[in-house]
Amino acid sequence: MKKIGIDLGTTNCLVFVPKKGIVVNEPSVVAVSVLDKSILAVGVEAKAMLGRTPDTITAVRPLRDGVIADYKITEAMLRYFINKAMGRIRITRPEVMISVPAGITSTERRAVIDAAMQAGAKAAYLVKEPVLAAIGAGIPINEASGNMIVNIGGGTAEIAVISLGGIVSWASVRVAGNKIDQSIAEHIRKKHNLAIGERTAEQIKIEVGSAIKQKDEDIIEIRGRDLIAGLPKTIEITSNEITEAISDQLKEIVRAVKMVLQDTPPELAADIMEKGMVVSGGGALLKNIDELLFKETGVPCVKANDPLFCVAKGTGVVLDDLDVYKRSIMSKK
Ligand code: ADP
Ligand code: MG
Repeated sequence: MKKIGIDLGTTNCLVFVPKKGIVVNEPSVVAVSVLDKSILAVGVEAKAMLGRTPDTITAVRPLRDGVIADYKITEAMLRYFINKAMGRIRITRPEVMISVPAGITSTERRAVIDAAMQAGAKAAYLVKEPVLAAIGAGIPINEASGNMIVNIGGGTAEIAVISLGGIVSWASVRVAGNKIDQSIAEHIRKKHNLAIGERTAEQIKIEVGSAIKQKDEDIIEIRGRDLIAGLPKTIEITSNEITEAISDQLKEIVRAVKMVLQDTPPELAADIMEKGMVVSGGGALLKNIDELLFKETGVPCVKANDPLFCVAKGTGVVLDDLDVYKRSIMSKK
């Protein structure tokens, strides 16, 4: 029986195949023809078109804020990634395990399952993303002890306390990488009269972004369109300026982390205090995010290894040991 795991993220989609590892890792973007709604490209190829498409093509992210915003396009994207993972020769249809946001509604669950079945899956199992992120980060979630995961993706940040394989308390905010990028673009527009695209904003975040101000500042040269002259222009930006620009977004994430801590039973809170919270997802790569979370909550914070791969690796761990995890974390439809 062929089984595969899919991290269906708002920004990136990864497919894990047991014994092979991560075989697909591409942006969750689909290029669609405006005229007849046909799919022109998926993944890496489609992302390259973002912001550069002529009027006849739109590049869409089918998952907004972690849920399916466009059902047909999500289905097409899943089909493309499943086919890519399975290779040309397909004897059996795979059983797929898909990560979904912790806050998903039953209608949204249904939509993900239907999309996966339509896309060629034999059966689809949904597992909550923070649980998979925790497993992939190497946290022993089945023990009777409190574990806290802060998974910061593109569309959502999800925080969960897990004990005995189940989520005890959690929160989800629709503030994560994308909103951080937007606040960078907005800052540059207002402060420097320069229009930049979302990819440039993300690049700035990755290269010089930091969650807390630094003594030794990084400087980056960026290109955009001058809003007054209307012409291309190059300016220099410092990292502390970016820290300030993104601070409101980070505060939202910190607030959610605090809320979850306040909701956590004392015994489990004591465990978390001792072990620290683990931060995963692409947002974990933001410089000093662990320092900020520690400073604001007083709870130690560690970054997961390979934070972009935690959820996909988590599906691999669960698929390898289905018996152990079946009762605690999965529901089959
Ligand atoms: P999702 O689960 O929503 O698909 P991911 O966990 O794949 O999201 O993370 C994607 C987010 O991580 C994007 O917003 C991206 O800009 C951000 N990201 C990736 N690398 C870095 C980095 N080095 N520093 C800060 N943010 C990063
Ligand atoms: Mg994710």
